[in-house]
Amino acid sequence: MTTFDDRHAKLLFELPDPAGQRRLRDVTCLRGAREVLFTRKGDKILKLADIHWSKMVVKSQIPNPKTAARQALVVGAGIGGLSAAIALRKAGWDVRIFERSTSLRELGFGLGLAPNAMAALGDLGVAETVLARGFEPARGEMRRMDGTVLKRATIPRGILGGPFVVAMRTALYGALLDAAGIDTVTAGSEATGFTQRGRRVTLHLANGTSAEGDLLVGADGVRSVIRRQLHQNEPPARPSRIVSVRGAVDGVISHLGGVDGLYYLGPGVESAHIRASATGIYWFMAIAEELVPANTTSAAALLAHLAPKFDDTFRAITSATSECRYDGVLVDRDPLPRWGDGVVTLIGDAAHPLLPHTGQGAAQAIVDAVTLARMLAQHVDIELTLRAFEAERLPKTAALVRQGRRTARFMRIRNPVACYVREAAVRIAPLKSVMKLYVRVNRRAGTAVNS
Ligand SMILES: Cc1cc2nc3c(=O)[nH]c(=O)nc-3n(C[C@H](O)[C@H](O)[C@H](O)COP(=O)(O)OP(=O)(O)OC[C@H]3O[C@@H](n4cnc5c(N)ncnc54)[C@H](O)[C@@H]3O)c2cc1C
Repeated sequence: MTTFDDRHAKLLFELPDPAGQRRLRDVTCLRGAREVLFTRKGDKILKLADIHWSKMVVKSQIPNPKTAARQALVVGAGIGGLSAAIALRKAGWDVRIFERSTSLRELGFGLGLAPNAMAALGDLGVAETVLARGFEPARGEMRRMDGTVLKRATIPRGILGGPFVVAMRTALYGALLDAAGIDTVTAGSEATGFTQRGRRVTLHLANGTSAEGDLLVGADGVRSVIRRQLHQNEPPARPSRIVSVRGAVDGVISHLGGVDGLYYLGPGVESAHIRASATGIYWFMAIAEELVPANTTSAAALLAHLAPKFDDTFRAITSATSECRYDGVLVDRDPLPRWGDGVVTLIGDAAHPLLPHTGQGAAQAIVDAVTLARMLAQHVDIELTLRAFEAERLPKTAALVRQGRRTARFMRIRNPVACYVREAAVRIAPLKSVMKLYVRVNRRAGTAVNS
């Protein structure tokens, strides 16, 4: 006999016991899963039941006032936290975000949004706004630091399987915050840890207060306190030995000389300057740590040191920049064997900080959020669904951590012979092959968020 208990949102199965007694099995349901139950009778193994949960789970999707009012607590109002809030709210959850900063804003620099990020933003309903505020670059040029052109290329439209958009972080952040609703965020609330009791979780805040919910999502970035509590023996973040500087400048598009993006490649140095709106350019520079003079802690000092090695275009764009940022040494973390525990999980940089060489950190945070909410909407048991979510996302993001390290090693090459070979490879590699590789990497990293 099968009954559906709405109150506990579980399927209860009463199975006849071969010994004549009846046993009650309490089984949570995972869509698509199959469970075969066996029992022993003397020497024989008998099949008791062959259950296809996909047929049963349909009942659990009947809107249930109890499940619809489930409460999610999200730590961190970055790109990942806001995306999670939008996606979970769309799936019927009550969501509260707790953000440490007292002001809600992203830094004024840009970022590349790969097709998988744009697809996930589409699910959140903000892709069009971001596209309208950003820029879809097509024509690019690769140069040596002295300005010698190594390659010019136009990306054929559609080859990436979707739009690749560069946008200012303020544009993306504004669109996400509007969609999440400012009322969702409690600013100036620093999380310090959590406790779990049964199927409920309590989030503790530095101001002495706490909040209770059915789900806790740690979206609190690379130095996540939620991750630290879940993985107490984890070593500190791993330094990449690459230092980065970023800037954004308005009104000097003409310096790009008719292309949408310039990419400089030199021994231990790379720098990209790319349109990020109708009038804005976003640029970044990554430098092998040993090339940075001792005690340098500001973007201005590092630029003053390196700018003479670059061409006039680089100097014109960076010297027109009023707001730049010295990031220091970039870090990532080794992939974890598991992310969460109970009704607690991690997303974005808290789960899998990546080197920017993947161009996928924000993209993966958004894909995590969309995937998490989709899976929670399909299944009733939160704990099991979180583990299924992690099993889906962990291997993909771990592959990206490794890919980021490989690309970073390639980019920080300083040996003259290796630099010569790298330059030759850049010159002769057909654009189509490079693009195909990019699409493959993107797919592996969860492009098909809707499938
Ligand atoms: C140089 C550089 C270039 C990059 N370029 C790209 C790119 O082109 N494309 C791309 O996709 N990605 C890029 N990234 C990566 C991307 O910026 C990050 O992966 C993304 O911002 C991560 O978002 P998040 O929400 O997970 O974390 P975060 O943005 O770090 O947000 C975490 C939030 O949690 C808050 N918080 C922290 N601790 C607490 C606490 N205890 N309590 C409450 N709140 C807390 C923080 O204040 C913050 O608001 C780049 C990164 C760097 C460094």
